[in-house]
Amino acid sequence: MKQARVLCDGCGAVKQQTNHWWIIESLVAGREENAKSYLQIRPWEQDWQNNDAKDVCGERCVSIFVSRWVATGYLEVQETVKADQ
Ligand SMILES: [Zn+2]
Repeated sequence: MKQARVLCDGCGAVKQQTNHWWIIESLVAGREENAKSYLQIRPWEQDWQNNDAKDVCGERCVSIFVSRWVATGYLEVQETVKADQ
């Protein structure tokens, strides 16, 4: 099976072989009322890709996601009204 292209979730750039990409993921540690979310940023690896993590092309796009997460607690842009709610 041909490997799918990897696109930057920040700017849409296509991942090349030699680029130094990152995976950013918002995770939760602890249980219930003691749960704390935290941000994990790690060097890009094929095996770590998953639907909740962001593939990010470099420092500039990393900073976009970090800023958004610090401001909102989410990696995705938060809509004021969701279509499915
Ligand atoms: Zn990017």
